[in-house]
Amino acid sequence: MKRITHTTIEVRTRMAPSPTGMLHIGGLRTALYNYLFAKQNGGDFLLRIEDTDRTRFVPGATEKIYEMLAWVKLKFDDEPIVQSKRLEIYQKYAQQLIDGGHAYYCFCTPEELTKMREEQEKKKLPPRYDGRCRNITQNEVASRLKSNKSYVLRLKTPKNQTVEFDDVVYGKIKVNSNDIDDQVLLKSDGFPTYHLAVIIDDHEMKITHIMRGEEWLPSTPKHILLYEALGWQSPVYCHLPNILGANKKKLSKRTGDVSVEDFKNKGYLPEALINYIALLGWNPGTEQEIFSLDQLIKQFDINKLHKSGAIFDIKKLNDINGQYIRKLSKQKITEMCLPYLVETYGDALQNYSDEYIASVVALEQERLKKLSDITSSTKLFFTNELDYDAKLLPWKKTPTNAKETLLSAQTVLMSVKKWTKEGLEETLTDFIFHNKLTHGEALWPLRVALSGQENSPGPFEIAAVLGKEESLKRVRAAIDKL
Ligand code: GLU
Repeated sequence: MKRITHTTIEVRTRMAPSPTGMLHIGGLRTALYNYLFAKQNGGDFLLRIEDTDRTRFVPGATEKIYEMLAWVKLKFDDEPIVQSKRLEIYQKYAQQLIDGGHAYYCFCTPEELTKMREEQEKKKLPPRYDGRCRNITQNEVASRLKSNKSYVLRLKTPKNQTVEFDDVVYGKIKVNSNDIDDQVLLKSDGFPTYHLAVIIDDHEMKITHIMRGEEWLPSTPKHILLYEALGWQSPVYCHLPNILGANKKKLSKRTGDVSVEDFKNKGYLPEALINYIALLGWNPGTEQEIFSLDQLIKQFDINKLHKSGAIFDIKKLNDINGQYIRKLSKQKITEMCLPYLVETYGDALQNYSDEYIASVVALEQERLKKLSDITSSTKLFFTNELDYDAKLLPWKKTPTNAKETLLSAQTVLMSVKKWTKEGLEETLTDFIFHNKLTHGEALWPLRVALSGQENSPGPFEIAAVLGKEESLKRVRAAIDKL
């Protein structure tokens, strides 16, 4: 397997997304690994928009790619290259390939090609161009061009040659050129195919290392042939195994979210997402699991990339995201949660002070896995009236009278001087002790009275946030229910 040791040349990597939809988790990992490798070698990370397939172009997708990369703070060096603006360059090199005898004009019509494919299918042969235009004479080509016949340019794949290259992850790859199709290089609309554009741009952008998804591995021999035909040195290849869903198949929309923007919208922090994604295909070989981008730049190792696909584990991502959330300051987390609260509670939120909102968020901070969770867990704090079944109030384990317990708790609460979590805890613990109650007997009805829920934070925390007046109001309402 090819090992990458320190390089004397300037490292230049790139991300080359096609603007055909959302930026996916897999695309983000490709970007990240290319970024990390370039930066740890003091090199450049470049961006190229591969928009030559006009049938799959999605308006706005390019802008989204920029937006998502900016969100995760992966900065690219230089202006992005946009392929659709470079048609003349591709055409120039295409001409060079024809002149050198490495490409040829193909005038086959779509109907002819369909027929060819059907016949191959019938004979159980792999679908491949049969080369019928390879040997059209120059004169004939000239006359067909003159009469404006539609054409494409194809790669003149050499016969029976071994094409080989070293892949950092997959090792030595060897293919017989007879198994390589006469790939279309330039389409009838004058646009290059991916295969032509990719090698020209990687050469012109002086890309030294290509890290990309494993789905491009079968295309690489074609690229090697093109590099050879143009007399260029090919870059180092490093194909990344797919990220897998829980079903061990390639991660896809069917198995859950795959678009980076969906994760952003749900309230994953960019640092946490990057941290988690870095571990999908690489690990440092130690127990360390939390990495800043700078630490990743230092520790990422292209030679330690895994050969098998990593499974995307949402629980692990949630866990890492939760750790990042807990590190946020009170002010920052409140700011970040506010849009979710506004979306859920709308104008009603105006009835609460900034300080109150901040204390609700601070209480939840410990438990949040993602920012959007703030909406499901805070309903009890932003309502005037709790709606719950009185049957929830009594402590189930020992038959005590919930009404009596709440009546005594109410008296005790009225006497609390320091209305803080600690002050409440102290007073109520005293009360429990003196009345020979268990914690469950005393605190369960109180917690339900304050939250209206079967599961919630503890009664001291809730009461401290709600304040004395609202807490007592809720206890009274509970007593009335019983
Ligand atoms: N445009 C290709 C993609 O979106 C890039 C392949 C490559 O990196 O060469 O996957």
